[in-house]
Amino acid sequence: MKNASTDLLGVDIGGTNVKIGVIDREYNVREFIKFKTEKDDVDAMLGSICGVIRGLAEKYRFDYIGVGSPGRIEDNRTVIEAGNIAYDNTPCADIIEQKTGLPVYLDNDANCALYGEKFAGAGKNLSDMLVLTIGTGVGGGIMIGRKCYRGHNGRAGELGHFIMDINGEPCSCGLRGCFEQFASVTAFVKAARKAASEHKDSILYDMAQGDPSRIGGRLPFYAMYRGCEVARGVIDEYICHLAAGINSLAKMFQPEMIVLTGGIMNEGPIITQMLAPHFMPFVNCSLSPLQGNAGLIGAALIKREREG
Ligand SMILES: [Zn+2]
Repeated sequence: MKNASTDLLGVDIGGTNVKIGVIDREYNVREFIKFKTEKDDVDAMLGSICGVIRGLAEKYRFDYIGVGSPGRIEDNRTVIEAGNIAYDNTPCADIIEQKTGLPVYLDNDANCALYGEKFAGAGKNLSDMLVLTIGTGVGGGIMIGRKCYRGHNGRAGELGHFIMDINGEPCSCGLRGCFEQFASVTAFVKAARKAASEHKDSILYDMAQGDPSRIGGRLPFYAMYRGCEVARGVIDEYICHLAAGINSLAKMFQPEMIVLTGGIMNEGPIITQMLAPHFMPFVNCSLSPLQGNAGLIGAALIKREREG
């Protein structure tokens, strides 16, 4: 039997996982499904998403689907390109509409995180806020006077792509040494794996069972809690870069708050505790209160954002 009032449905396509959630009108996540992103086969990925949605539509009633995706989105319908998912000018909104029979609202995933914070999270009572989504990459959303700032072409908000090292590695965006290359979870994991390979007597190497490729975003923290100096060094350096970028963004935008969300949320308050001593006095930075679901909740709220 279906519920009397309609729920909201959000889809958050990430570089690593796809999350699909049924959200009630108080923005609680009532049902949550997560699966690995089939990033080399977009048709299969969209097929999986639509299969889950059809299943949920048997249990819940919703009038439309909100979808957040990485990458550049044209006309709110088509994903032109995304760093690590093999999109090729994919008309995602049309495909999902055809397969599910429901209207689709599509937006950039970082903007969705901004809408989630704006309506349901840290930004409910704020006028000016930045949201930094720190996961596979670093995304951003800019709220000025409670409006999402998009630039003249709709592409503003790439807060992960200002240059920190002019001689740095080439970035997928075409620049070099971007903030993303220091502050993403991908960069963190890469640094941890390298450090473990170079220190085979470390707790981190031992915890990875002698195979640094097993190190993910969380293991270095577990190793640090066990007293691993190598892990501690990697984390300290990561935090230092992240804080430097946040200081720069705060200086540029002077927001009331910078909200952190994305995969980094898994570590909890230790992140903000370690960041705090590096911040300039005017920086107000906190973790999203939405348990890593800002992008998902925000995707379900794209329609609300567009309708003002
Ligand atoms: Zn870049």
